[in-house]
Amino acid sequence: MSETQAAPGTVYLVGAGPGNPELLTVRARRLLDSADVVMHDSLVHDDLLGSVPESTRLVDVGKRPENGERTTQEEIHDLLVEAANEPASVVRLKCGDPTVFARGGEEAEALAEAGVDCEIVPGVTSAIAAPGVAGIPVTHREHASALTVVTGHEDPTKPESALDWEALAETVAAGGTLSILMGVGKLPENMAALRAAGLDPETPVAMIERATYEDETVVTGTVGTIVDRAERADISPPAVTLVGDVVEVREAIDACVQSLGRQLVTTGQYSQIEGD
Ligand code: SAH
Repeated sequence: MSETQAAPGTVYLVGAGPGNPELLTVRARRLLDSADVVMHDSLVHDDLLGSVPESTRLVDVGKRPENGERTTQEEIHDLLVEAANEPASVVRLKCGDPTVFARGGEEAEALAEAGVDCEIVPGVTSAIAAPGVAGIPVTHREHASALTVVTGHEDPTKPESALDWEALAETVAAGGTLSILMGVGKLPENMAALRAAGLDPETPVAMIERATYEDETVVTGTVGTIVDRAERADISPPAVTLVGDVVEVREAIDACVQSLGRQLVTTGQYSQIEGD
């Protein structure tokens, strides 16, 4: 195992995992302990940010401090290149895995164009971890042999949508699992698109909000009922929506599955809305 510390002039695109700092990789921890600069998004646990040495320059590129607007992707590229050229060692910290809906690829391309060395440090992605900690395996020999991870942020009714909802419905109907990230806002449209594509409205669905945080919340239902249930439970981002028969496995194992979110309950509360 390499024990090198963060090197000046290098940008490390690091996955922070889904939330709880216990789910960081050893490599990520070592780099966070030795980097000069840590540039992070908004979806990173406060305890993790609080755990870096005091001398580290922490830069929040989730929102601009002056006006709360998002830092643009181009600005982030410039900030990364500038810091690396100081030369500083830079950790670019993203939630989950840096290559899953995190623009890690774009940042690596921008760094390559500027001639800056970079390393991709994988993280535990919420696409798999959020259902996992809630007792839902994304594959299972008897239920699912395929996993598809998609963004739920696009409008499925728009012709320019990059997602083929008919194909997604077919995948689930054929026994695959669909893991939808960024899908809270467009949940009604996405469930309607799956139904319109012929998916059985009884297909099980789970939503896992703030997985591994102290206030982790799980709601289960079906393609036909989840919109109503999510609304009643006031599910808000970040949440993963999981569609497929594997959701049923949770019932069998829930009684014995402990989750980090549940173990760490202090002020928050683990909540669950069971099926009818
Ligand atoms: N790179 C990240 C995904 C970034 S996109 C990863 O690999 O996990 C942001 C989306 O990730 C959120 O909208 C939500 O769908 C999901 N997400 C991230 N953290 C989460 C968490 N703790 N619980 C549930 N969903 C989470």
